[in-house]
Amino acid sequence: MALDLAPGRISIVILNVALPVPIFRTFDYLPPENFNTGQLDPGVRVVVPFGRQTKVGVLVGVSSDSSVELSLLKRVKDVLDQRSLISEVDLQILHWASEYYHHPLGEVLASAFPVLLRKGKAAVLASEPFFRVSKGGKKITDQDMKKTPKQAVVLNTIRAHPEGINRKRLKELVKNCERPVRELIQKGCIEVFDEIEPRPSVEKLALSSPEFSLNKAQKTAIEGVAKSLGKFGVYLLEGVTGSGKTEVYLRLIEKTLRRGEQAMVLLPEISLTPQTEARFRERFPVPIAIFHSALTETDRLHAWLQVQQGRASILLGTRSAVFAPMEKPGLIILDEEHDTSFKQQEGFRFSARDFAILRAKKLSIPVLLGSATPSLESLRNVQLKRYHLLSLPERAGQASHPKLKILDIRNQQLTEGFSSQLVQEIEKAIGRKEQVLLFLNRRGYAPTLICHSCGWVAKCKNCDSNMVIHLKAQQLRCHHCGHSVKVVSQCPHCATADLRSLGLGTERVEGALNVLFPSARTVRIDRDSTRRKGTLESILDRIGNDEIDIILGTQMLAKGHHFPNVTLVGILDTDSGLFSTDFRAPERLAQLIVQVAGRAGREGKKGTVILQSRQPDHPILRSLVFGGYKEFSSNALKERRSARLPPFSYQALLRAEARIEKHPIQFLERVVLSSKHLKSNETLVLGPVPAPMTRRADHYRYQLLIQSAKRESLHEVLDLIVTSLSELQKGNRVRWSLDVDPVDLY
Ligand code: ADP
Ligand code: ZN
Ligand code: ZN
Repeated sequence: MALDLAPGRISIVILNVALPVPIFRTFDYLPPENFNTGQLDPGVRVVVPFGRQTKVGVLVGVSSDSSVELSLLKRVKDVLDQRSLISEVDLQILHWASEYYHHPLGEVLASAFPVLLRKGKAAVLASEPFFRVSKGGKKITDQDMKKTPKQAVVLNTIRAHPEGINRKRLKELVKNCERPVRELIQKGCIEVFDEIEPRPSVEKLALSSPEFSLNKAQKTAIEGVAKSLGKFGVYLLEGVTGSGKTEVYLRLIEKTLRRGEQAMVLLPEISLTPQTEARFRERFPVPIAIFHSALTETDRLHAWLQVQQGRASILLGTRSAVFAPMEKPGLIILDEEHDTSFKQQEGFRFSARDFAILRAKKLSIPVLLGSATPSLESLRNVQLKRYHLLSLPERAGQASHPKLKILDIRNQQLTEGFSSQLVQEIEKAIGRKEQVLLFLNRRGYAPTLICHSCGWVAKCKNCDSNMVIHLKAQQLRCHHCGHSVKVVSQCPHCATADLRSLGLGTERVEGALNVLFPSARTVRIDRDSTRRKGTLESILDRIGNDEIDIILGTQMLAKGHHFPNVTLVGILDTDSGLFSTDFRAPERLAQLIVQVAGRAGREGKKGTVILQSRQPDHPILRSLVFGGYKEFSSNALKERRSARLPPFSYQALLRAEARIEKHPIQFLERVVLSSKHLKSNETLVLGPVPAPMTRRADHYRYQLLIQSAKRESLHEVLDLIVTSLSELQKGNRVRWSLDVDPVDLY
């Protein structure tokens, strides 16, 4: 809707612009010199002078009045878009998000655009080379095809895309296709044309559905959501790994596409799970837009515009893809909904899950949340009948549930973290030519370097944390601020040369595996070992081809991978998750164990999961092992209820940090004082308390927890606090941030 600017109606036109600056207000400008009223669609990007800088902002409104004296107002330099790239409904949702998260509107709006659009780049899709089968081209005989099998593969792939396939997608579908493509062009079999991605036509959708038939639970789930297409509804699909959730997603996406609508699929980390993307591409011969942080800015802009213009029918993306405008929204799917990566932990701290639900509501479309280990928040919403629960209780096909076993390692002699029973089990599995997966959530060689003589410990100079030993790189590294130094061989305190490494990291366990199982083929998966692009893919390929016997890794392993030949999972250090000050730690531990366990014993082979623990009677472990995630989560919800913790209350965390320790304390104390008169017995303001890691990256960190039994009361207090924050901050060089619905109290 363009604003009504018929001449004569309003004598002075003042544009209200939201700018990406940490200030809670919009800014007034005069229209550009020769402006055209048709261009004043709220949501269009505008270029404006701001101090000595030039900034790209978003037009949010027009008024005839300004609190600034007219003669001081500057002019908008340029209007970048003819029409808003974001729909009116989406703009409303972003306004809401700015209020709900108490974050400046300009920054919220900026995060809805890809970086290149934020910088003012034109919103046009670049054309690219496409291939299609030549019409009058020479026919190729079967005989020819047999002689040149690679060309045959390429030709068939191109033939499957009658409207043309772009070079990039062809390369994804057929590796090393450059030469056969050249040869096919020379032969006149295919032709190149330069075009913008054509709009997909759904009628031509030729789906390669798998041979199996859906089981009853899958059918029920699909029907449940399908009847909501075109209407709002939140569905929680609870199903263990391998129960066929993805199959449910794929069928629902198919239904959505057949309605001529688009589907948005949000995943925690697609760059780590190339298999997922491949599965979607294999199934749907339509343009699929991919949006995640490992792509270039140009690629992200392209994906965003493809979806915005309706040229891509499916969007596969991570957290920030939730803002991508859809021309014809039909369905939102959020897989692994419990995953904390859906909550942004810096800047605009939104939850992609909550945002997706709100968006679905405003757009009147269904949203499907999936997980083997749903968050307690979502389970609570099922209890409250806000979400519909759909369950896939059995593993699809032949696979059965893995068996969890607690292995008591008290009073046991461990070899580099391995009990003798675990070693035996690993040997047996390898002997049966099956794969073993070992989990240890700590990278590096060892977490502590200690002097055996005087007790000195290598600590980070910037943080309250120990330096982690990375032996291969010969470095000590801080995993919190990135600080690194060369490994020392002599104690800087007492000059003794007897420095020892304490504790286990994946690098160390990898070395131990090579000694314990010299003939086994071992691979390590963590952020260090997969840093180079393509490494993870090649490791996953080798695992898939049975070229690996033992897979060792960090929580990267828990994310969406399929390891069909793994029958034994060992969790080396279960206990590290049992003792934490964060009330969500048990939930995270249970989720991690179930997720890692879910990698084992698919496709008909029986799986076993061994949890090494010195706390074999710990209630969390027992309820998980004997009652599964269901029993664990129902107990955990009861505990949260009696402790009045989320989801039975609502929280916000005000964090403050500065180089001088007393500054954040003083600042937060002032906040507490200023909120005293609120005198609500519903809302608690707790603190200031030091953050669990008080000193980090050379800053002292303190925090204030604001908790309320009612969401509205929490927000009343936050409204009040936020308006006075910049005032209270004066004289103190503190950096503060407000985190509404924090998932991590650090
Ligand atoms: P999840 O997403 O829950 O981990 P998937 O959808 O990936 O589960 O299914 C796991 C495996 O089982 C996949 O290889 C899939 O093709 C297969 N599968 C899914 N549904 C069925 C079914 N009804 N019968 C047989 N196999 C199935
Ligand atoms: Zn010493
Ligand atoms: Zn540090």
